[in-house]
Amino acid sequence: MSSRTLKLYDSLSRTVKPLVTLEPGVLKFYTCGPTVYSYAHIGNFRSFLTADLIVRTAKAIGLDVIWVTNITDVGHLTEDDVADAQGEDKMAKALRSKEGEHFNNVWELAEFYEDAYKEDWQKLNLSEPSIRPKATQHVREQILAAQTLIDKGFAYETPTGVYFKVEAFPDYGKLSGNTQEKLRRGVREVVQDDNKQDQSDFAVWKKDDKHLMQWFSPYGWGFPGWHIECSVMARAYLGDTIDLHSGGEDNMFPHHECEIAQSEALTGKTFCNHWVHTRFLQVNGEKMAKSAGNFYTVRMLLERGLSPLAIRYALIAGQYGKPYNFTDQTLSDAELNVERYKRATIAAKEALEREATGEDSAFASELNLLYQEALDAMCEDLNTPVALAKGLAGARAITRQGDSMSKIDGENALTFLEKLNGLLGIVHSDYEDESEAKVEEPTVSADEAAEIEGLIEKRKEAKKSKDFATADSIRKDLSERGITLVDNPDGTVSWSRA
Ligand code: AMP
Ligand code: ZN
Repeated sequence: MSSRTLKLYDSLSRTVKPLVTLEPGVLKFYTCGPTVYSYAHIGNFRSFLTADLIVRTAKAIGLDVIWVTNITDVGHLTEDDVADAQGEDKMAKALRSKEGEHFNNVWELAEFYEDAYKEDWQKLNLSEPSIRPKATQHVREQILAAQTLIDKGFAYETPTGVYFKVEAFPDYGKLSGNTQEKLRRGVREVVQDDNKQDQSDFAVWKKDDKHLMQWFSPYGWGFPGWHIECSVMARAYLGDTIDLHSGGEDNMFPHHECEIAQSEALTGKTFCNHWVHTRFLQVNGEKMAKSAGNFYTVRMLLERGLSPLAIRYALIAGQYGKPYNFTDQTLSDAELNVERYKRATIAAKEALEREATGEDSAFASELNLLYQEALDAMCEDLNTPVALAKGLAGARAITRQGDSMSKIDGENALTFLEKLNGLLGIVHSDYEDESEAKVEEPTVSADEAAEIEGLIEKRKEAKKSKDFATADSIRKDLSERGITLVDNPDGTVSWSRA
């Protein structure tokens, strides 16, 4: 294991401090994932990228990482910045929207956007988490958690749900500063509900026998609160105390504050030792958000012809702890820099064809030093601007050597690029390698394409008249011929040969 430590700003102690793992050499890390009611936007991805960079840096300094990042598919309400969330379930609202018309039910909608999120994740070259649990797969544990909280005197049942009793947990507010006393003074909006013992209490379980996704519990039909999902999933996979938890800055309150209260009330132990929050990605100085309508999805940017690696590059070009304004200039700079890595990779690969004559040791040490400096920068609270500058200096040095590189120099150059890719993920991706490979596959003839389009049309008609047996059999026949169909929310169907 390397002697380096990874230092990260901890929102709880409000200091930059070394990341210490409870079990030596193993990092237990939880990241709040997306709510799958729509495409994740690049602001969401900036937060996920922070987590990805932590994982990459931790691995580079020799840690094993168990990384859990969840999928929220129930319980996240539209007004989620209120101390006790209110409004409609985001999933249900999405089903009633224009896009929602293309889905038969909320489960289909969730599955569609979950798949889209995973696809975007892969395109942006994020590392695969150890597990991606879904809130709906853990409802039993959430009901058990609600019951344990009641039994321990931390929660109570009302005609509308089960509520966490903030007064019973004096540490409430330690992360965000929003203590119960401040909430009582109206520092943040709370849901007025006379059934609650105190207006600052928040829902662990909501009673609702009309909800589109509902489960039976000791309190009747209903659904879990958003915060209890993450408390339960983190514990299920990582244990009572985790090393690190991340999310976007808006997650700090109420989501993470409530997670701490519930988890610590449940176990009597510290829930998490280190909290990392990504500052917002902004457009023209404002938070990028679906509700503000000023957002880009990964797909929108790809349609403009940008490469996935350039989007990734642009999103990590600003350090995660500072608000980051996203502009067209950032994107075009990123595209240029990704090209620089491509040129360096080509030059290094060409050198492999040459003879194994002497090694340029000064060149080898320069690359080694640049990688070490990039890693040092990442260990200093993920200083991506410096790490990226070091990487680029290496790419330039390789291109500058050009034809004068021997085979051994070429190998050294490729090792540098590979290690840098492991750390920052901007040199190449499996996704891009796969897309390039696909281009070489035999193309479908015009006649066959027309026939496939005809079958897709027939399937669409069958679906419209609710003849799902015919629709499914067309999909199955095409699948046996190696044709995969992708249903888009706007009703169009795209296809590809597997
Ligand atoms: P959601 O799908 O709303 O649950 O959000 C998923 C993650 O993205 C959460 O950790 C949010 O805090 C984060 N997030 C949302 N908007 C932004 C933004 N503009 N910049 C950075 N992170 C964001
Ligand atoms: Zn969460």
